[in-house]
Amino acid sequence: MDCLFCKIANKEIESEVLFEDDYCVAFKDINPVAPTHLLVIPKKHIDGIDTINELDKEIVAHIFMIIKLLAKREGLNNGYRVISNVGADGGQSIRHLHFHLIGGKKLGWNFE
Ligand code: 5GP
Ligand code: ZN
Repeated sequence: MDCLFCKIANKEIESEVLFEDDYCVAFKDINPVAPTHLLVIPKKHIDGIDTINELDKEIVAHIFMIIKLLAKREGLNNGYRVISNVGADGGQSIRHLHFHLIGGKKLGWNFE
C-alpha cells in the first residue's frame, strides 16, 4: 500500500521523530500551525477514526496515553488541543489515522 504515514512509521521517509514504541510513532508536522504541532500515528495502518475496529481499541487508548505524555514533555501546562480529521468533509488529507497534538499558544476556534 502506498501510504505516506506507513512510510514515515517504517522510516522509508524521514521525519523528526520525538517518540516511538511498539504501537505508535510521534513526529513533528511538516507544516506546523502552532509552536508545538505533533502527529501521533499507530504503526498499524488504520484509515481513520471511521474504520477503527474492536481490535484497534487498545492501540487507540494507548495513543491517548502517549499524547498525554508528549504534552507534558512539550511543556504544554496551560492546555493543548488534539484533533483527528476524518474523511473529505473533515479535511483528512492523509488516510492513515493520526492525531494532531497542537499547543504552545492560545488557540482560536474557527470553522469555515
Ligand atoms: P490531515 O490534513 O490529514 O488531518 O493532516 C495531515 C498532516 O500531515 C498535515 O498537517 C500536514 O502538514 C502533515 N504532513 C503531510 N505530509 C507530511 C510529511 O511528509 N511529513 C510530515 N512530518 N508531516 C506531513
Ligand atoms: Zn498507512
